[in-house]
Amino acid sequence: MNRDLSEPTPIRQQPALEKKGLTSAQAERLLASYGENRLKSGKKVKALPIFVSQFRDALVMILLISTAASIFMGELVEAISIAVIVLANAIMGFIQEFKTEKTLETLKQMSAPMAKVYRNGELVRLETEKLVPGDVIEIEAGDRIPADAILLESVSLQTDESVLTGESVPVHKQENSSATLENKLNQPYLVYMGTTVTKGHGKAQIISTGMSTQMGKIAHMLSEIKEDLTPLQNKLNELGKLIGIGCLAVSAIVAVAGLLRGEPLMQMIITGVSLAVAAVPEGLPAIVTISLALAVKRMIRRKALIRKLHAVETLGCTGVICSDKTGTLTENKMTVQQLITFNQSVEISHDNQFIEQGVPIKPTSNPTYKRILEICVLCNNAQLQHSHQKGKSGWKAVGEPTETALLLAAAKAGITSESLKTEYVRMEEIPFDSTRKCMSVIVKDKAGREWIFTKGAYDVILEKSSRIQQGNTAAMITPADKKRLEQQNNKMAGSGMRVLGFAYAPVSGTPQEKNLIFLGLSGMMDPPRKEAKQAVITCRKAGVKTVMITGDHKLTACAIAKQIGIYQKGDLCLTGRELEKMSDQDLDHVVQKVTVFARVSPSHKLKIVRSLKRKGNVIAMTGDGVNDAPAIKEANIGVSMGITGSDVTKQAADVILLDDNFSTLVAAIEEGRVIYQNIRKFIRYLLSCNIGEVLTMFAGMLMGMPVPLLPMQILLVNLVTDGLPAISLGLDPAEKDVMKQRPRHPEESIFAHGLVYTIIFRGVLIGLTTLTVFITMFRMTLSVDAARTGAFFTLVLTQLIHVFECKSETKSIFSIPLFNNMKLVGSVLISAIIVLLAIYLPQCNLLFRTVPLSGIQLLLCFGISMVVPICNAIFLAVKKSFHKKDMLIATPEQAE
Ligand code: ATP
Repeated sequence: MNRDLSEPTPIRQQPALEKKGLTSAQAERLLASYGENRLKSGKKVKALPIFVSQFRDALVMILLISTAASIFMGELVEAISIAVIVLANAIMGFIQEFKTEKTLETLKQMSAPMAKVYRNGELVRLETEKLVPGDVIEIEAGDRIPADAILLESVSLQTDESVLTGESVPVHKQENSSATLENKLNQPYLVYMGTTVTKGHGKAQIISTGMSTQMGKIAHMLSEIKEDLTPLQNKLNELGKLIGIGCLAVSAIVAVAGLLRGEPLMQMIITGVSLAVAAVPEGLPAIVTISLALAVKRMIRRKALIRKLHAVETLGCTGVICSDKTGTLTENKMTVQQLITFNQSVEISHDNQFIEQGVPIKPTSNPTYKRILEICVLCNNAQLQHSHQKGKSGWKAVGEPTETALLLAAAKAGITSESLKTEYVRMEEIPFDSTRKCMSVIVKDKAGREWIFTKGAYDVILEKSSRIQQGNTAAMITPADKKRLEQQNNKMAGSGMRVLGFAYAPVSGTPQEKNLIFLGLSGMMDPPRKEAKQAVITCRKAGVKTVMITGDHKLTACAIAKQIGIYQKGDLCLTGRELEKMSDQDLDHVVQKVTVFARVSPSHKLKIVRSLKRKGNVIAMTGDGVNDAPAIKEANIGVSMGITGSDVTKQAADVILLDDNFSTLVAAIEEGRVIYQNIRKFIRYLLSCNIGEVLTMFAGMLMGMPVPLLPMQILLVNLVTDGLPAISLGLDPAEKDVMKQRPRHPEESIFAHGLVYTIIFRGVLIGLTTLTVFITMFRMTLSVDAARTGAFFTLVLTQLIHVFECKSETKSIFSIPLFNNMKLVGSVLISAIIVLLAIYLPQCNLLFRTVPLSGIQLLLCFGISMVVPICNAIFLAVKKSFHKKDMLIATPEQAE
């Protein structure tokens, strides 16, 4: 099918069409001249606009304007100190936002798909960006086409070109030997970047990449993927506005009260605005975003790639995981262990011998074994390659694991596509898909006769067969034959093997997958992943149910599910057939008890997800095939496989498991829970601190005292307590019992379990502590400056102590590990140093109107600040001992 390349008029100079593709050196040269294969539509994260946006806040602007005005009134020092703090705040905000944006940008790049391409004659997986014109690629159902390419070969190929044409009907694609290389839309022999393969497979040579593709031409019209706010961020935004209004009102009252008491107008405006700047929690949603982004980064380290930020939140609510079996719960390393025919059975040993009744045999001398092995090779799209590992040479197969296993089994008997080259020519293929559960090829033998060779799920093949091979003849299948085959299947499947059936028939007329001659069975083993069992136990303790959904036979599925611990006594196992017969109500009735769904097709998955959802479960559903996409979209958390997953599934998914491993999903759920706990921690911290700050100023004014804190002092308190410590709290490691609690309800408020009261109560105590110090110091020294310095120091100190209290909702500061988050310790130290500098550095005394505190005064601040944590510890200890007593007198049911 090689084309003459002198004839066409390509858009760009094209390298020669060559089925084997390019060498690495050629590709490198072409990459240098054509550039990377990507669309230049994505907006880059730029530093300057992010920095400028830090000053766009209305409150900050009012503050800066009023500060500028105060310069004219001679308050130069105050103006400078406020400006310095506002700048420092902006720099910090900038660093946080820039880092978050960069992290999100890297994430988008990481989820970029890979392509299967021939380099140096070998099929390899490569980032699509590295593709160049001339590269030969393999495409199959579920793939997103990486560049515009001309077809060299195709089998039942169909693509969805709706992204380019708006037309969602799949388009049939086929190679055309007289086609030109001109890149035009709507050509049946061209496949286009960004479109997806809906059926079949093929081989194509790239003709345009990047912006020269058809997609590139309309790239500017493509909207950027917008990262929507997560439900939590939305809620916090609303809440922030509400609290903001409250704070503004209090700030206004403080300012007015000051004015009424005769304080200077400008001074009170600045005080009011500074208080508002410090107290309005406008940074809360931003910190949530940063924490979520950092959680996403941590998840990548654990091999889970989050595609949508909201998934991080929802992961923590997951109550049911519906997991594929093959490759996710098992290793996806299949090996054929047994072949069974009408009256014979052979085992394939570890040392590649075929053993029949304890005696090694040559399988090719038995015509039925031989035919089965020939089907293994011919009805197969995997490829066999020579491998040289650790000085040993052998075979390595690339492709779908079921097929590679069959290819390797045949190779062990000396049958390969190379050895069959002179025997058969492959004419046509009826591809495998998960709904049909079988695959056929039409081949022509040396004598010119055509045959259909079929392999697939044992029951499916048996249904399509009317006769059975018995030595050299084919006899009608009797009920006794069926019974015997069923027993053999049950025996293999019952030990966890995947059983395939093989059949063939001569072709006369249109080839059809019916009236076939049944040849026999193969049993292949795919061992469960070692870590899966532990992950299932972790899930059970965490109140998360694991459900296996597989295309495999009921017995195979149950055997593996039992080994992993998913299927337990009393659980139900349903098959696709049974599912079909059930109404939605019937299914809803039993669905909570089912732990294995076997012999299902992708369409059944949707029915299962919907039923589980109706029962109020939050579901994470895994999938890999193109047909899994609807169920993945429907699930609360759609999970795609990173290695075996099709591009379409990956695009529909919220999470991609980079190693296809079930335990990775469980790790992601744990991270989801941890981040939610951490978000609760810093919300608790930030809000109680803000209440403390507002209350200090408000109550101080109400009590008719001088303003407890000056504007720049308030701003400095805000700078050292709000930023770094809060973000560091978001990085707190998992608490020990995080996977021992039930999943939280998705509708549960972030303030559930009494958090609101904790926040208000602690906030009031922070305010009272500060005021106590202010009043005591004022009485002791009769100096407002000293009293303010004491209040300033105490306000920061109580908050820095409180940040550690926020690490746990149930333990006191004396019983939680203080040093398991060194970032928090570090940021608290930095804040403490800044505060001490503000008090003891003469230049800072001038700027912040502070005075150095004596040892006794420092001790006084520290002592008063510790009163609340000590009382809290005593309170918690008493509560715990009461709780223990309650447990002792409770009946066994209550205790449970
Ligand atoms: P799981 O859903 O657990 O991941 P799976 O995705 O491998 O399993 P399917 O691919 O839907 O399940 O396969 C369903 C059945 O089809 C298998 O049990 C097997 O009998 C048969 N089968 C799988 N692969 C092939 C193939 N390449 N050719 C023919 N039949 C196959």
